[in-house]
Amino acid sequence: MDVERLLLFMRAVLLNTGTELLAGDVHDTHLAFIAREIFSVGLRIEERRTVGDGPVISKTLRELFPRAEIIFVTGGLGPTSDDITRDVVAALLGLKLQENAELLASLKARLKARRIKWVSSIARQALVPEGVQILPNENGSASGLYLKADINPKIRSPYIFLLPGPPRELQPMFRDSVMSILRSIVKGPPKFERRFYKIAYMGESLIEEAIGKKILAIPGVELGYCARPGEVDVRIIGDRAALDQADRVVRSQLGDSIFTIGDETLEEVLVKLLTAKKQTLAIAESCTGGLLANRITNVAGASAVLLAGYICYANEAKIDMLGVDPKLIKEQGAVSEQVARAMAEGARKRAGSTYAFATTGVAGPSGGSREKPVGTVYVALASEREIKVKKLFFPSDRETFKQLVAQAAFEMLRRKLIS
Ligand code: ATP
Ligand code: MG
Repeated sequence: MDVERLLLFMRAVLLNTGTELLAGDVHDTHLAFIAREIFSVGLRIEERRTVGDGPVISKTLRELFPRAEIIFVTGGLGPTSDDITRDVVAALLGLKLQENAELLASLKARLKARRIKWVSSIARQALVPEGVQILPNENGSASGLYLKADINPKIRSPYIFLLPGPPRELQPMFRDSVMSILRSIVKGPPKFERRFYKIAYMGESLIEEAIGKKILAIPGVELGYCARPGEVDVRIIGDRAALDQADRVVRSQLGDSIFTIGDETLEEVLVKLLTAKKQTLAIAESCTGGLLANRITNVAGASAVLLAGYICYANEAKIDMLGVDPKLIKEQGAVSEQVARAMAEGARKRAGSTYAFATTGVAGPSGGSREKPVGTVYVALASEREIKVKKLFFPSDRETFKQLVAQAAFEMLRRKLIS
């Protein structure tokens, strides 16, 4: 089967307008939101453009119209003089702007309820091109607009959605009004699906080596990777039969390395596993400065498993809080297998938990030595029966270093819990 034809079922294009986006003052969130939403009806964004407010919107739409079947335009629906989206679209399609009495009344009521003075420019928001469908805005004054394809029979045009800029207005409008219209445009069940696999603490090249060729040999499957510190998402897209085949490859090759096939984080998986086993956790952190505890406590229900987190950065803290033997620190150094071991065991005993993590390392940029260069780290996992220590090497910036250490530690425990 032709992959392009399968995946680019209907060409959907996104046009973000707003000079603030190009100035770097605002981060675009619409692409991620819209792309994820429309996937469920079998649509993908094929192209995204970002332009400033002004005549460039008209020029860009003229360029996009011939190659788009569905187009989402965001921003520029407000009352100010730089909000020109609806005027531009009306002009391009040769549609007259008409005052919509209902819209005008609801705008007036909205302002009155908020005790905001009526300014005549606000009435612009009640001017809509003839023949459009109004998409109610529950969270702001700018309504969205939907124009069906070829709304002016004399001019070829795609299905057009004009949507407000603020995410808190766009998102509910999209879910409440846009999705049902899209369903009627697309018709029938989605032609393709998407599956996700998340893998921690395994490089993306290794993953690719394990599955890449075998999956790409299956006709009609698209394969993608998304790598973050200490974690890789594998994403496959295709029709159901092809995906079932690809799924068998991924599972047989990666097996237990997959920590979830859903949206869960690694810490969520850990909390779930520990909760199910009624087991508990303590965390002793030096170089990670509380990141492990922070991530665990971001999970709802963490209190059922986390008993204590100790941040012991200084040697004295390791001695006072965890009972690490000062002689050990003096002889082996704070960054050592023995100290990591003593920290984990100290934390486990003091907290009375089933398991305890300990991290101690050289995050840098200074403080490295020849035997222990910047990036050296020991991660310990104590349980009732044993203490395992791993020596790892993550030479990178401090934040990435901490994330990598956390991933390594969490994956160590996850492996133990599923074994
Ligand atoms: P308003 O009625 O608020 O003027 P509008 O439809 O005219 O809405 P804009 O003026 O273009 O929209 O944008 C309003 C605000 O929405 C921006 O200041 C920005 O904070 C936010 N915004 C716009 N576009 C985006 C985007 N792509 N991603 C995230 N936020 C955005
Ligand atoms: Mg505006």
